[in-house]
Amino acid sequence: MARIPDDELNRLKSEISVQRLAEAAGIELKRHGADLIGLCPFHDDHEPSLVISPKKNLWHCLGACQTGGSVIDWVMKREGISFRHAVERLRTDVSSLSR
Ligand SMILES: [Zn+2]
Repeated sequence: MARIPDDELNRLKSEISVQRLAEAAGIELKRHGADLIGLCPFHDDHEPSLVISPKKNLWHCLGACQTGGSVIDWVMKREGISFRHAVERLRTDVSSLSR
């Protein structure tokens, strides 16, 4: 299989909004300084531990997950799919999820 070019990965990571992905997943986000916080969808969260930085377009769970990353990491974790599969999914969704 051909390697996915870095410029395409960078394009997906910059064009697709983490915030839009979270909102599409039904997560209510509240502004917290420069960041957005909400309930983490990846563990049983009762205090908002999901932090999204719209400026950097990155997310992080400060609770049980202790993980985070780009939109690609989000889709991999959310759908339980491989990196390549997540990139293909985002490629398809880029128009509806772009910033
Ligand atoms: Zn979490």
